[in-house]
Amino acid sequence: KDAGRNRFEFFSEQLNAESRRKIGLERDLRRAFHERELEVHYQPQFDIASGEVEGAEALLRWTHPTDGPISPGEFIPLAEESGLIVDIGAWVIEQVCEDLRKILDRGMHPGSVSINVSACQLRDAGFHNSVMDPIRRFDIHPPYIQLEVTETAVAQNRDTANSLLNSLRQDGIRVAIDDFGTGYSSLSYLQQMPFDVIKVDKSFVDKIGGGATSDNICRTVIRMAQEMGKKSIAEGVETREQLEFLEANGCDVAQGWYFSKALGKDEFFAFVEQQDQHTQRRKALEIL
Ligand code: C2E
Ligand code: MG
Ligand code: MG
Repeated sequence: KDAGRNRFEFFSEQLNAESRRKIGLERDLRRAFHERELEVHYQPQFDIASGEVEGAEALLRWTHPTDGPISPGEFIPLAEESGLIVDIGAWVIEQVCEDLRKILDRGMHPGSVSINVSACQLRDAGFHNSVMDPIRRFDIHPPYIQLEVTETAVAQNRDTANSLLNSLRQDGIRVAIDDFGTGYSSLSYLQQMPFDVIKVDKSFVDKIGGGATSDNICRTVIRMAQEMGKKSIAEGVETREQLEFLEANGCDVAQGWYFSKALGKDEFFAFVEQQDQHTQRRKALEIL
């Protein structure tokens, strides 16, 4: 049905193998989650103008005992289909708060941490609590947490998502729009959406230098954020040329392999520790 109606498809060994892998992975994911095989990694984000660390994005990692690393691009959709993402997502928030508390207790300030949120989580009545409960328990100042939602996820839950995000923002949580401009975007809808940050999608950053049209689109996304009084964060920055373009066009923050890949918890702690103490104190004051 996904390929369109009014057509048929012959059974093939390939389809069979694909669905077998899917069913197997879904079962393994459930087990992996309960046996703590999943890990939260952190990709640092940098203030483009000053070059200082601004925060990090929390990204899930799964190392399968026999198949090795499995990309979130493969297992997140499975977790979404099976509804497991609600529990996994709540655990990610818990984990981030626990890690943040450890970092803060060591006197370090990593800036705000972004957490990706799936559409089903926005539909879940317990979501507000699954964010605010660990924040209170680990005594985290709410602006340290930024939730990344996609326009599509919010549009799928029109009635509940806006009021949910509004009340979380009232509690001090920040909201970023992820994958902006890659799905069905509606400017009138964007106007009603409660958010603080627009993420400039990797697909636009990738095309920087690829000709006037693609440069203009990237520039326009940054300009739109500026005109709306929002912050812009570019993702997937891999080259100096991309960074220079983003800087020249007033983008605020960047993340990508040019700076750093996502780091395991201990590596990330060590990374934050290396940052200038003076800068960290100033960042902490900005958030407070
Ligand atoms: P996303 O939120 O758009 O995350 C950005 C993706 O770009 C990440 O892929 C990141 O590792 C990758 N990336 C960052 N910099 C570069 C770069 O310079 N070059 C390249 N080629 N890639 C870069 P990742 O970690 O594979 O995650 C893929 C997607 O899975 C994420 O896209 C997000 O939608 C989802 N995801 C990851 N963790 C979670 C989670 O905890 N919960 C939910 N609901 N979704 C998650
Ligand atoms: Mg994201
Ligand atoms: Mg993205």
